[in-house]
Amino acid sequence: MSIENTTEATITTPITFADLGLNPAILKAVEESGYTIPTPIQAEAIPTIMAGHDLMASAQTGTGKTAAFILPSLHRIAEPSAIRSKGPRILVLTPTRELAQQVSDAATKYGKNMRLKVVSILGGMPYPLQNKLLSSPVDILVATPGRLIDHIERGRIDFSRLEILIMDEADRMLDMGFIDDVERIAAATPATRQTLLFSATLDGVIGNLAQKLLKSPKRISVTSSKAKHENIEQRLMYVDDMAHKNRILYHLLRDTE
Ligand code: AMP
Repeated sequence: MSIENTTEATITTPITFADLGLNPAILKAVEESGYTIPTPIQAEAIPTIMAGHDLMASAQTGTGKTAAFILPSLHRIAEPSAIRSKGPRILVLTPTRELAQQVSDAATKYGKNMRLKVVSILGGMPYPLQNKLLSSPVDILVATPGRLIDHIERGRIDFSRLEILIMDEADRMLDMGFIDDVERIAAATPATRQTLLFSATLDGVIGNLAQKLLKSPKRISVTSSKAKHENIEQRLMYVDDMAHKNRILYHLLRDTE
């Protein structure tokens, strides 16, 4: 082997979003967001999900986990469904309204070049509006478990064409007491679905839940950069005014010890 070849073999080029084979409409939206390089969770999860595997991934907020499940989900629904129904093709369960809003915003942003209807069903919001939203065709439904159960029990959601069920921050959903609701929702969806579980941890109760709801899942684990910052020491200093704060800050910055 020549030296040139040896050098080439040791350089690992990071994969780009274009390498992942995503639908061009999605790729365009990702590029317009200014992202070119997938984060580690995206580089691992996107091909796994596109290949149709169930997945359990440990990834915290800040790792790019939302795009890791939204992009391949959008890729899937870029092709029309074989089933005639107006029910959702993708269902994302989140523990809080705030997270549901972030997921909906991400789906809308990355799906902006597709014909797509994203609906959020959250607790604390008026039922008549939600009923109206659910009465026309839905592609992606993002929901908190409690309110979704209400709509399921009233027969307002047809899951016959559901293709992917995603549980985001599953550990928090369980901490908040949603385990029964999550299991009941999963039971209302087709057994043929693909199931993705994202959680800060994958052990204990989460492992049990995954065993019940996922089929031969692939496992991916990434640690967020935040988790590595164990050596940071935090101190609180009281100051009199801005001039005092600036003097103290200047003093601290000069203190190389
Ligand atoms: P998340 O972990 O999903 O909460 O995402 C954290 C932040 O990273 C969000 O503000 C995203 O818009 C941003 N983000 C996601 N993927 C990428 C990427 N590949 N490159 C740069 N930023 C990204």
